[in-house]
Amino acid sequence: MIYQRSSALFKDAERVIPGGVNSPVRAFKAVGGTPIFAKSASGAYVYDEDGNRFIDYINSWGPMLLGHAFPPVVNAVIDRAREGTSYGMPTKLETEIAELGVSMVPNIDKIRFVNSGTEACMSAIRLARGFSQKEKIIKFAGCYHGHSDAFLIQAGSGAVTFGSPNSPGVTQGTAKDTLLADYNDLVSVQRLFKANKDEIAAIIVEPVAGNMGCIPPQQGFLEGLRQLCDEYDALLIFDEVMTGFRLAKGGVQELKGVDADIVCFGKVIGGGLPVGAFAARNEIMDVLAPSGPVYQAGTLSGNPLAMAAGLEMLKAIKLDKGLMNRLEEKTKYLHQGMADVLDRHNIDYTINRIGSMISVHFCTEEVVDFKTAAAGNNDTFKTFFHGMLNRGIYIAPSAFESWFITDALSYQDLNETIAAVEEVAKEL
Ligand code: PMP
Repeated sequence: MIYQRSSALFKDAERVIPGGVNSPVRAFKAVGGTPIFAKSASGAYVYDEDGNRFIDYINSWGPMLLGHAFPPVVNAVIDRAREGTSYGMPTKLETEIAELGVSMVPNIDKIRFVNSGTEACMSAIRLARGFSQKEKIIKFAGCYHGHSDAFLIQAGSGAVTFGSPNSPGVTQGTAKDTLLADYNDLVSVQRLFKANKDEIAAIIVEPVAGNMGCIPPQQGFLEGLRQLCDEYDALLIFDEVMTGFRLAKGGVQELKGVDADIVCFGKVIGGGLPVGAFAARNEIMDVLAPSGPVYQAGTLSGNPLAMAAGLEMLKAIKLDKGLMNRLEEKTKYLHQGMADVLDRHNIDYTINRIGSMISVHFCTEEVVDFKTAAAGNNDTFKTFFHGMLNRGIYIAPSAFESWFITDALSYQDLNETIAAVEEVAKEL
């Protein structure tokens, strides 16, 4: 593959954008090389500025559950744009998508729309603190909840890829209110509750982790968190920015049958436009301004283009009875195909998979938390990444990311991917 134009465009970008990108993982720092510049995308494929075609397993980091340029979303955005792109006034569209969201997700009465997953998680924490009148939160090492200060404490995704889990600029004052536990380890959570009695407002957790690769919760983990929150009178926040409307129509609450108190959304809910949201029962949501005292706002929140895109996306997901099954079958097929190849080549690996999320770690130990995820061989991952890229398969440029399977992927695309793994395995 030739990446000549992408290389030139990256040099131009580096002159005027820090590191040449507007979000760090895009820069390929963890794997080396030049990021490819997207020109267009359709269905399962993304096309770069050099004219290369890639089967896409990043899918804008999650939103494109139904493939790129999904026609109902594209048409809704075009139609809506003709009516004006923002008003800063309420529209009936916002109620429509809120009603749909509330009908799909268990255990929520009201939903507030924002512009990103970061905003959703940041606001959820403020709401939890305002509601509970307590200040500390518990998060898990390797979980990523966006880049607001309270969460940049041993965060996953780009924050760990770049080796700066505790970002400069986050004050000690903020950091002291974020307590760290280990994913899939209830004892580590219980210890924090015992040591900080009556001080913990909430636990925030990715109910299926996707920012240290894909790590599903072990049996009893989410149920245990629910119990601890009940026992210590803290709120349980599910960050379903990745998993919402993806792993089940009602997210992980539905999939695992565990109720959260506040749920955060992003990615799929906006159909590829900048949208996030958080939701809860009435008693919690009514504490938010203007009904209550906890302030939260946004000039572009509920933006009509974003709401139109999200509405078409959620409608399509709700109406498609076979969707979740198809996604899971495709993911399973890819898992089995890759596992067969890697076994035959005697390569140490662990593949984690749940629904339409999957990731490959190059290690033998089971990957259940940040420590075990970090034990993977990064040199092998780099070779794997570039080998796949050069064969037209675009996976996330870091082992600390999940791959996202879309409904647009055909079995031929999956076979092409497995064939690429077969070739790359010889180089590992
Ligand atoms: N929470 C989770 C679980 C995420 O995966 C992400 C982004 N990858 C975020 C929050 C932050 O979302 P955004 O990038 O839209 O701010």
